[in-house]
Amino acid sequence: MEKNVYQLVREKIAQADAILMGASNGLSISEGFNLFADDRWFQENFGDFRTKYGIHSVLQGAFFQFPSQEEKWAFWSRLVYRKSVDVQPSRMMLNLYRLVAGKAYYVVTSNGEDHFAPAGFAPEQVFEIEGKFTEMCCERGCHEAVYPNQEAITRMANAEKDGLIPAALLPKCPHCGGDMKIHMAADQSFFQSAVWQRKQAEYQNFVRKYHNKKLLILEFGVGWRNQLIKRPLMELAAAEPYATYVTFNKGEVFIPPEIAEKSIGIDGDIGAAINAIVESVG
Ligand SMILES: [Zn+2]
Repeated sequence: MEKNVYQLVREKIAQADAILMGASNGLSISEGFNLFADDRWFQENFGDFRTKYGIHSVLQGAFFQFPSQEEKWAFWSRLVYRKSVDVQPSRMMLNLYRLVAGKAYYVVTSNGEDHFAPAGFAPEQVFEIEGKFTEMCCERGCHEAVYPNQEAITRMANAEKDGLIPAALLPKCPHCGGDMKIHMAADQSFFQSAVWQRKQAEYQNFVRKYHNKKLLILEFGVGWRNQLIKRPLMELAAAEPYATYVTFNKGEVFIPPEIAEKSIGIDGDIGAAINAIVESVG
């Protein structure tokens, strides 16, 4: 019997020396989280912010200039608590981890909701290239360290009242005593920080380590114009003689002709495809 595409990917996983995963918002959307949408989830969770500030998506809220820290942290603590703290990993993410468990792997993602580590991925092998909801840093950048924020987020989310956080619960910079912010890319300085440069070096080390090896590149829900994740992965697929490039996307599978021979495109719901691969016998 001829192999279907899921069995083929399963086989590629088994044969690979290493797996490099790239993921962007298409993977989050498949999990029900759409940063850009004024959808039911946003309206149910942020209806009050929608009315009060005219914010119509998570992304708009993330870049909104709130008049006070009490309001800013009301938005962020609610978002981070509901998306990244008080949640169980989805079947899709657990299955994604099952695909790479026991293999050498590395993940590069622009998704900020921190949905890889809870599913089993080693945090040091996940590079959140645009930051993540579960880390915070000094708002004015007096120093570069980032801090886990789950405890502060939980305290604030539980104490939020009418879109305000009590001033006593606002997180403060341990160095300058100033305000804190979620550690997400807002401008170029983010990418120049030592923290980011160190992760980037680890990513490059992984790529170097598996040069000339059977490298399997799995790319999930990355738009075809994406420069930060997709372009480097396509270039790597072209340069590495034994690489295989698999791109999962709903309605937007893009494979350049130079790498068509070593590529597999999987169109349709990403979660359904991941589940089908896990359930297929290679
Ligand atoms: Zn500071």
